[in-house]
Amino acid sequence: MVVAPVVCSMAVITLDNYIGGEFRAPVDGRYLDNYEPATGGVYSQLAHSNKKDVGRAVAVAAEAFPTWSSLKPEQRSDWLVKLADAIADNHEALAQAESKDTGKPIQVARTVDIQRAQDNLRFFAHAATQFSSESHATDPRTINYTLRQALGPVACISPWNLPLYLLTWKIAPALATGNTVVAKPSEVTPYTAFLLSKICQDIDFPAGVLNIVHGTGQQAGAALTGHPDIKAISFTGGTETGHNIQQAIIGQAKKLSLELGGKNPFIVFADCDFERAVETACRAAFSNQGQICLCGSKIYVEATIYEQFIQALQQRMKMLTIGDPADESVEFGALVSAPHLAKVRSYLELAQSEGGEVLIPDEPIHLPERCREGYFMKPALITGLDNQCRSNQEEIFGPVASVQAFSSQEEVLHLANDSAYGLAASIWTRDLNRAHQLATDIEAGIVWVNCWLLRDLRTPFGGVKASGMGREGGVEAMRFFTEMKNVCIDYSET
Ligand code: NAD
Repeated sequence: MVVAPVVCSMAVITLDNYIGGEFRAPVDGRYLDNYEPATGGVYSQLAHSNKKDVGRAVAVAAEAFPTWSSLKPEQRSDWLVKLADAIADNHEALAQAESKDTGKPIQVARTVDIQRAQDNLRFFAHAATQFSSESHATDPRTINYTLRQALGPVACISPWNLPLYLLTWKIAPALATGNTVVAKPSEVTPYTAFLLSKICQDIDFPAGVLNIVHGTGQQAGAALTGHPDIKAISFTGGTETGHNIQQAIIGQAKKLSLELGGKNPFIVFADCDFERAVETACRAAFSNQGQICLCGSKIYVEATIYEQFIQALQQRMKMLTIGDPADESVEFGALVSAPHLAKVRSYLELAQSEGGEVLIPDEPIHLPERCREGYFMKPALITGLDNQCRSNQEEIFGPVASVQAFSSQEEVLHLANDSAYGLAASIWTRDLNRAHQLATDIEAGIVWVNCWLLRDLRTPFGGVKASGMGREGGVEAMRFFTEMKNVCIDYSET
């Protein structure tokens, strides 16, 4: 085991940058506090990197590029498998760290986050050995073939809600295709990225191939995206940030993939499997304390079962075990930060001021002493608001879902599409034609029918409208991280 298990300690951990295979303090010696959401206490400090730190990381990534990109795909694949194995060896310590850093329940960190981090690396390790390109026989004496070449140093910027899960989702295809990486994890949840760099050092992962720079988006993130030697940016985060990055790099020839916010419809028809729909609506709205871009935060229920559905959903919400994320039985932990908790709560006030009713389970939350200052709130439903209200249009990104009734397929299609966002949708019906029709007509990058968040890593992942640009996942990610070059050969001369 490389990574020491998290223990209760008063000592503040220092999270330095990982550049060229070494841990480096930030050039100007400045650090940011990192909080544990369950307690509200500072437990680590991360490098507050600036342009110079980023410049150093990009320089070593550029230096490492020729060697890494000229390895055989099998060799890169072996390195990714080695990294996945090392994550598996440190699974429990990483899960404890992720839970501590984000406030998510330990069992979620174990079964979702850290498991998926390994899966991402293994998936793209295998993809590296299966990636092929096209050839076109133009006539009997001319052939075109397409090379797909690595780009150079690329930037991978990730958010706080699924820290190691989304960081590895980006670095794995980037590395598999022969690029070198400068990753910038969220300043809100930097801990597992730091532990990943310790793991890389321990397994002698080739120096300079993966570099991790910590710090704020405004300083470290902007320096990274604006760096002239960065060839591509894979970004996951808020819509506004995505648009800022788009603006900042106008005129620079960089590839850009944007995975942004969502406000996803969860559509329930009267002919659905009622029990499963209620169970999944609860999971879709409140998993990870509602802090998943794919959460079904706008629930539309056919009018004939609306009251019954709300009753059943409220019953199910009462059964959620809310509490200390370190507790094995807890299903619903703390929100990620004090400002985020304040933002989410402000939407409950907004919904009431808009004329809505806020439904919150009566049961008290039982918290141990250590969690008295933690960022906890109960899950909430908002009813009685029309689709145009801000609470129904803006991404809240917390444990708050709104419920509205509809009377026809046409009406619910209109309601679902009446949104700036277009990430995902979930449709619950036993009518196959209706499911296919809605799946075709809904403006979203991902549609689930009678399920939610059932993922196959080969499928394209991403959104439309304000939810993003481009697709991740499977071959789409491999294509994003490579540049095509067409070679045309005339071999007619005898
Ligand atoms: P955020 O946009 O505040 O930050 C995301 C990352 O971008 C962080 O690492 C941050 O430091 C960095 N950043 C901020 N400003 C930057 C700038 N100007 N230049 C470069 N980097 C910058 O998002 P967040 O609050 O961390 O995450 C929540 C958001 O992420 C939600 O909107 C959620 O829907 C979205 N999200 C989307 C997906 C998806 O796949 N579509 C997945 C998870 C989260």
